[in-house]
Amino acid sequence: MSYFDNNVPPKREDRLQAVIAHKENICSLAKNGTSGKGCLIQDGDRGFTQGTICLLLPALAMLNSLPDNVVLLHSALGCGSCTHSQNANVRVGNTHRWGKPKDGIWLSTALDETDVISGGEDKLERAIIEADRRYRPATITIVAGCVPGIIGDDIDGVAQKVQPEVSARLLPVHCEGFKTKIWATAYDAVYHTIGRNLLTERGVKPKTPQDELDVLKEQERLSRTVNLMNVSSMGRVDEQELERLLSSLGLTVNVFPVFAHPDSFINATRAALSISTCPTHDDYFLGYLEERFNVPSIIRHMPIGISNTSLWIRDVAAHFGFEEQAERLIAVEEAELKAALEQFRPVFEGKKVFISAGEFRALATARLLQEVGLEVVAIRSFHHDQFADIEYEKLAKEAKTDYVVDIANVQPFEEANLIKRLKPDLFLGHHNGNMTAAKLGVPTHVIYNTGLAYIGYRGVFEVARRLHRQLSNPAFNRNLADNLRLPYSEAWYESEPFAYLNTRGRSVNE
Ligand code: SF4
Repeated sequence: MSYFDNNVPPKREDRLQAVIAHKENICSLAKNGTSGKGCLIQDGDRGFTQGTICLLLPALAMLNSLPDNVVLLHSALGCGSCTHSQNANVRVGNTHRWGKPKDGIWLSTALDETDVISGGEDKLERAIIEADRRYRPATITIVAGCVPGIIGDDIDGVAQKVQPEVSARLLPVHCEGFKTKIWATAYDAVYHTIGRNLLTERGVKPKTPQDELDVLKEQERLSRTVNLMNVSSMGRVDEQELERLLSSLGLTVNVFPVFAHPDSFINATRAALSISTCPTHDDYFLGYLEERFNVPSIIRHMPIGISNTSLWIRDVAAHFGFEEQAERLIAVEEAELKAALEQFRPVFEGKKVFISAGEFRALATARLLQEVGLEVVAIRSFHHDQFADIEYEKLAKEAKTDYVVDIANVQPFEEANLIKRLKPDLFLGHHNGNMTAAKLGVPTHVIYNTGLAYIGYRGVFEVARRLHRQLSNPAFNRNLADNLRLPYSEAWYESEPFAYLNTRGRSVNE
């Protein structure tokens, strides 16, 4: 039985034994690697934790990007308000791909106290019909937050009941925030509804003999077509870089699922190969494409950094038997890039960097920074699962010191303490997670911005160029630190940074 036979996908704590509370040094983490045997690290807990995001944020980043889709949140007022900040990305993404700006459309049933007592299913039914009449979209994604999960509203049942009355396809998405602390479960939740609802062919005419030549041509094209998975971690500029590299191997690229029209999803089931750009995102869906549609997949390296981009290309080339072509491409690209990076080395020499992000992006970025001459002194990964073991091994081989890896769903108090101790020259994290370092006077750089190049060989050069400019003049952050302070006491900065890890509600100092 497939996970996709159920209405609700499993959470990653259960499916992958993913971990969110752990600390270990890079070398022992690499040595204790699970090598595909499932996660062997025991998850811990924190006696004190700070607020964080829920899985709605990454889920909405994907869903808002779908053209001709209405996002209908079924939850309390306030859930999904992250869409306000995400809309800039949707507008820019649409402009880069289709030539004109277009906002995401999102509505909410805004459940209140009365709905919590009486149930919100009637309200949801009315909202679906209203959304269909008003916008006539191809799809309506019905996204459940915590409230329906607690009061027992059946969004799948409502979708089934209302479907005959509306023209849009109804796609239930389970994002009840209280069910999991691993946000990456959001990718599974969105892929789950895509797999269950959008991969079946509709309205296909039987083939006639006249079609045969077209069929053969199409088969030839599909034998060279690859799914390039993007759940919103790459902007158009990064997609173009990977398309450039894959097309130099003679491959045609189907970027999927962000900014792909719901009707075009069927193309993903016919491709010759699916290529992951981030194993943290894609394993759930690629497993399904393989199991249900026999589309093989590669899910191993993330094309960030020089060596990881080359490994990523080699894996794809090996699948099609294009190894020689790939080696020629890699040799030219690497030689040109390495020569271009030399100008930055004098400024990077001896500079220390702290990295924070979702696990695979953090680790692949750490490798990139090592390659351009910076020294990694700490990594914070938002969770850990078995797919990252390969990256810890690569990093440990090149580490100058046995630095700490903090597995934490943010927890800025630990980060502030670590920054005070380690005194990095640079901090790379998400734009909404860089303020702790910035206020401590450390120059920061965004680890994810869909308008900036980050991926592939071009990404290495552009990241290095931006960091060089920032390190050449860190005055902005010094001024910030002189005029702002964080809420932590001196006593906390003098404490053990992991004083609240696995202490059952107490600090080790108590
Ligand atoms: S945790 Fe629950 S209540 Fe909070 S934003 Fe997420 S879905 Fe809404």
